[in-house]
Amino acid sequence: MSVGRRRWAVQGYRRQSVKDKVAIVTGASRGIGRTMAIGLAEDGFSVALIARSGDALAEVAGAIERAGGAARVIPLDVSRHEGIQRAVSSVQDEFGRIDLLFNNAGIGTGGSLEVPVEEFERTLSVNLTAAFCFLQAVVPIMKEQGHGTVINVASLAGKVGFAGYGAYGASKFGLVGLGESLFRELSPAGIKVMTLCPSWVDTDMARLSGLPPQEMIQTEDLLKTVRWFLSLSPAACVRELMIECRSEIY
Ligand code: NAP
Repeated sequence: MSVGRRRWAVQGYRRQSVKDKVAIVTGASRGIGRTMAIGLAEDGFSVALIARSGDALAEVAGAIERAGGAARVIPLDVSRHEGIQRAVSSVQDEFGRIDLLFNNAGIGTGGSLEVPVEEFERTLSVNLTAAFCFLQAVVPIMKEQGHGTVINVASLAGKVGFAGYGAYGASKFGLVGLGESLFRELSPAGIKVMTLCPSWVDTDMARLSGLPPQEMIQTEDLLKTVRWFLSLSPAACVRELMIECRSEIY
């Protein structure tokens, strides 16, 4: 482990004030996850921040703490699946509960059959298998609690097959299918599972779209969507939400 990584790992295990609710946000270092982590902290969640970049996570944690919130930095490459159970257990040990999993870490792979098999497998590993491993680790805790919310971030590319995005689409269709099964399985147990399927969102990943920022969904739109979803009564379950850009309606 490099000195930098060890420093953040130590900070990651620093005990901080415990808020009422606890969220795990994967892919929290930038883009959708960053906005979500900061917004959830504003709403009273203690937030466990997961991504590879410890420095970027520390910046997000700093923003949360300066606003009076609580955050914990857990640098992790989610394609190293063996680290996921450990990370989730450490959150549970420290906070004693997990109310929300925002299963969001992902990579945007361009290409279909021309993609080397290693890159195809890496896309599945980060976008699908890692999300599966987080669910495997978190859902038993939520079952024990008798409640919990999971939001899987798929994509419109998980509902529509786009030319030139076969590898990415395969990973996101897989996540949509997993989410639909779990929605049916877990809703009766009081665990809400919702899959977000946005079109282009104004983040680093969407630079290749060529769309100007004002023609894309804003990360704040997804935060507002999540806030709405979390405000629903316990019996109201939402399986899936598709959000599209006005200039790219399919
Ligand atoms: P982004 O700005 O590129 O952020 C991706 C996040 O995932 C970063 O925090 C990144 O952190 C993390 N990540 C990537 N690989 C990782 C790994 N191996 N281990 C741990 N963390 C990893 O993209 P975004 O737009 O916010 O994307 C978030 C999610 O939304 C993704 O699942 C994406 O597929 C989905 N989505 C995006 C769009 C869009 O147009 N932007 C549309 C639909 C769905 P590190 O690099 O620090 O690890």
